[in-house]
Amino acid sequence: RSKDDGKDRWSYFTSDMKIDSDEEARMEQELRHALRRDEFFLVFQPQVNIRTQQVTGIEALVRWQHPTRGMLGPGSFLPIVEKTSLAAPLGQVVIDKALEAASIWQASQLDFGRIAVNLSPSHLTSGTLLDDFNSAMAKHGVLPEFITAEVLESVFLDSERSNNSEVLEELHNLGVHIELDDFGTGYASLSHVADLPINGLKIDRSFTAQILTDAKKEIVVNHLIHLARSLDIDIVCEGVETDSQFDRLRMMGNFSVQGYLIARPMPFENISNWLTSAQADLSFGLA
Ligand code: C2E
Ligand code: MG
Ligand code: MG
Ligand code: MG
Repeated sequence: RSKDDGKDRWSYFTSDMKIDSDEEARMEQELRHALRRDEFFLVFQPQVNIRTQQVTGIEALVRWQHPTRGMLGPGSFLPIVEKTSLAAPLGQVVIDKALEAASIWQASQLDFGRIAVNLSPSHLTSGTLLDDFNSAMAKHGVLPEFITAEVLESVFLDSERSNNSEVLEELHNLGVHIELDDFGTGYASLSHVADLPINGLKIDRSFTAQILTDAKKEIVVNHLIHLARSLDIDIVCEGVETDSQFDRLRMMGNFSVQGYLIARPMPFENISNWLTSAQADLSFGLA
């Protein structure tokens, strides 16, 4: 095998790709090494209130600094991670690094709202998730009210994962904020959502992308925002890229937005500087 096989493998891997079990075993082995060598790190993207610009949350997004292939995004390795026993170990690393970041911002009195962590379905099912949160909270001194867990709606709908709802319910009872990620891409309806132990919904960026060009999408998003408000469910609108999207959304209510227009995901140093200037701008505005 030439070295380049590996490059192709990680760069072009997609979740619906068929790979044989040998190949899968090799990829798993490589991921295991990566965990041991601490090659995973987080980038952070802010969520801000659309009216006040106040920071309501910071989403942690995992990256793999591969020794030879450069930085890899989650799309190229998470599908494999999900199929292996590595989902819990990687999830632990993500939770630990995310809460470590939050504790540093707290110590510097930077207001980050809540630190948002994406939960992998397999980590939820693994049985270690609550312990992982509890140990990271204790280790870093971060309270549950400063944490958001982002979950996909499939986590509630998949019957093979029926214990997931209980785990999330317990996390919710601890005081961790639970948000449904990518809302609108699956099957969950808002009436279903009202029965789930969740505090918020993230409207998928495919909706945001179409609010200016598809009148029906705009109506759906508008109603979603109003319904969520009546149900006391928070909204984060994902993938806001342009001023005109921002302006249109702003007419729909009071909620949070996230996207390249506000800021791209960035490494810890940069987001810490971003938070510092965001806080300075806000207090200047209030003065
Ligand atoms: P997500 O949770 O919906 O995260 C948002 C994704 O959209 C991120 O991609 C982010 O970089 C991207 N994004 C943010 N703003 C914009 C925008 O304005 N326009 C566009 N086009 N994209 C935007 P990323 O980091 O590649 O993550 C992809 C997905 O991988 C995430 O989707 C999440 O489902 C998963 N993921 C990322 N980090 C983790 C993690 O630590 N653990 C787990 N289990 N899943 C993760
Ligand atoms: Mg997310
Ligand atoms: Mg999302
Ligand atoms: Mg997504």
